[in-house]
Amino acid sequence: MQMKKIIIAVDGNSGSGKSTTARAVARAMGYLYIDSGAMYRAVTLFFIRNRVNIRDDEMVRKALGQIEIEFHPNPVTGKSDTWLNGENVESEIRGLDVSAMVSPVSEIPAVRRMLVEQQRKLGSGKGVVMDGRDIGTVVFPQAELKIFMTADLGVRAARRRSEFLERQQQAQLEEVLDNLKNRDHIDSTRKDSPLKKATDAVLVDTSSISFEMQVNKILDLAKAVIEED
Ligand code: C5P
Repeated sequence: MQMKKIIIAVDGNSGSGKSTTARAVARAMGYLYIDSGAMYRAVTLFFIRNRVNIRDDEMVRKALGQIEIEFHPNPVTGKSDTWLNGENVESEIRGLDVSAMVSPVSEIPAVRRMLVEQQRKLGSGKGVVMDGRDIGTVVFPQAELKIFMTADLGVRAARRRSEFLERQQQAQLEEVLDNLKNRDHIDSTRKDSPLKKATDAVLVDTSSISFEMQVNKILDLAKAVIEED
């Protein structure tokens, strides 16, 4: 008998460990993992490179028509890389330049409309784990399992900084902390699809639990949903 396939929506604050956790859950379940934040980051990189004025609706509309985002597996890292118009931009979209601009770009309704449509297509076959800010509330309100991840700001900043160092990118703790605070503020107060916990999402605070524990917790919840009815 074919096992029921579900959609797992993982939302939460910047640096709460969503991506690494969601990726590990997808791997364990043989599901597709989609990092929706990478899509907003790729759009932001295009806007920076092409000096798109985010207050100019017409310029934004034209730019969006020129953007193609794809995910391709990277045989060296075993992860999936983000490609923008045929170029691997995985490393560049994680830098502080893009991080500083991504939340203002993500506030633009036209940007959200385009990416939400693509995200729904990517998840249409089910068997997907998608992480972001509005996955359980807007992209897949019907997702069978919704997780909302959070962690103390200090813990999140320290984690983000180690990720920078692992990629040999420089970042001061203060700078990372400010960026996280700023993005949390913009992301949770914007008009269109603000970051908020869906009423039916399970809250997972990762401040003091191990990575393995958080992954197992979500896997247990997923198993329970799949075995239901
Ligand atoms: O997940 P990550 O931190 O890489 O996301 C970068 C930014 O993209 C977030 O701070 C947020 O502004 C935006 N984003 C969003 N909606 C999503 C995913 C990310 O607005 N579903």
